[in-house]
Amino acid sequence: MEYEPVIGLEVHAQLLTESKIFCGCSTQFGAEPNHNTCPVCMGLPGVLPVLNKRVVEYALKTALATHCRIAAHSRWARKNYFYPDLPKGYQISMYELPIAEHGYLDVPLQSQTDQTKRVRLTRIHMEEDAGKNIHDARGDASLVDLNRTGVPLLEIVSEPDIRSPEEAGAYLRSLRSLLRYLEVCDGNMEEGSLRCDANVSIRPRGSAEFGTRTEIKNVNSFRAVEKAIQYEIGRQIQATEAGETIVQETRLWDAEREVTRSMRSKEFAHDYRYFPDPDLLPLVVDHGWVTELKTSLPELPTDRQERFIRDYGLPAYDAAVLTAHKEVAEYYEQAVRAHPVDPKAMSNWVMDSVLRVLKDDRLDLHISRWPCPPEHLAQLVSLIHDGKISGKIAKTVFDKMHESGQPPQAIIQARGLWQVSDSDTLDAQIDQVMADNPDKVVAYRGGKEKLLGFFIGQVMRATGGKANPQLLNQLLKKKLDS
Ligand SMILES: [Zn+2]
Repeated sequence: MEYEPVIGLEVHAQLLTESKIFCGCSTQFGAEPNHNTCPVCMGLPGVLPVLNKRVVEYALKTALATHCRIAAHSRWARKNYFYPDLPKGYQISMYELPIAEHGYLDVPLQSQTDQTKRVRLTRIHMEEDAGKNIHDARGDASLVDLNRTGVPLLEIVSEPDIRSPEEAGAYLRSLRSLLRYLEVCDGNMEEGSLRCDANVSIRPRGSAEFGTRTEIKNVNSFRAVEKAIQYEIGRQIQATEAGETIVQETRLWDAEREVTRSMRSKEFAHDYRYFPDPDLLPLVVDHGWVTELKTSLPELPTDRQERFIRDYGLPAYDAAVLTAHKEVAEYYEQAVRAHPVDPKAMSNWVMDSVLRVLKDDRLDLHISRWPCPPEHLAQLVSLIHDGKISGKIAKTVFDKMHESGQPPQAIIQARGLWQVSDSDTLDAQIDQVMADNPDKVVAYRGGKEKLLGFFIGQVMRATGGKANPQLLNQLLKKKLDS
């Protein structure tokens, strides 16, 4: 039988606020354990939470950018469970009345760049993060770090619209890109500011019913998400074929062995005994504020992609790659503004060379930390365009730019890499090569025209690759044919 996977993702995005959601403590990553804490976020008795307005603003921006319906009234709920990293015994979240519902995200698919897949969003709500238990630091005790308690999170829940691991990866990349454009989350999966749980089930292809789903918890890289889902689909198909029943449960991704394993049977929602938080008023969002936020939204990735195709005549593929990261898109635009003659050539340089070296240096999200400003790249492309250097030499120059941060002109000057476009110099080189290879000259003139390539190669070698190829071609033909 042929099976179809049904996948929904729950993404937790840490919001880029300076202080926590219900107190003034700092949210800075990497502080000393338990340094960013106070009675409120440690859950001491008798304290009251005070909502951070910035958190609501970021939630609203995300909701607007994903076409969600924003609730005029939403309500905070207590999600009760006991765990040492949650000293209050409950987490403040939203349950029945979330701030936003029924949105969608149009996800560009990497395999077919002119196609997008619409993934509907069930809901978006705000909640506080829990702390962190550290079990292996000492042999005889577990430690707890409460710096994360009360750090604001946005939970973004998709409908089960995703049909393959690749689509899941594309959705997650797209969502991260959007959150970064909005500047509400840094999207750093390694530091845990973007976390993902995946709900996976299978059903016979063509069936409308859902199979029993399992939830894979806290997968922390794009690759891991795709691999974990791939594994889980395979496991469920195998179990079903063997006549076993899939049980609803939570599973963990074991990145070392590349398998998912059972963590616990899935709790049902009533296990959490959700109830409205009596310490917080229902959240009433002012309509005027929403309108104001809507007009303040930046240009979003899909809009920018369309504009790149329209304004710069780029293929859809280029536009998708260049706009995936806001910083990269801005880098490209600045470079094109400095040298507007050939936007496609500039796109090739950014995609092939700039993104490659940034990936090697793990800087692909931080192009602004790269020592070559867009003006340098613009200069390089302009020098090629004007025939001052060859495309081949330009690759060498680019590598030096990457290493040293120097502008291309300085590198070309210091190394004498200017293209030789002076016909007297080239004529002299051609004469020399012809004199050294009289038999080949005779053969060429006897009809072996393929030998032209040989002569070009010889002159190129003699000039260290710096001969202007068009001019050389022209001069050579003239001499050989005379
Ligand atoms: Zn605090």
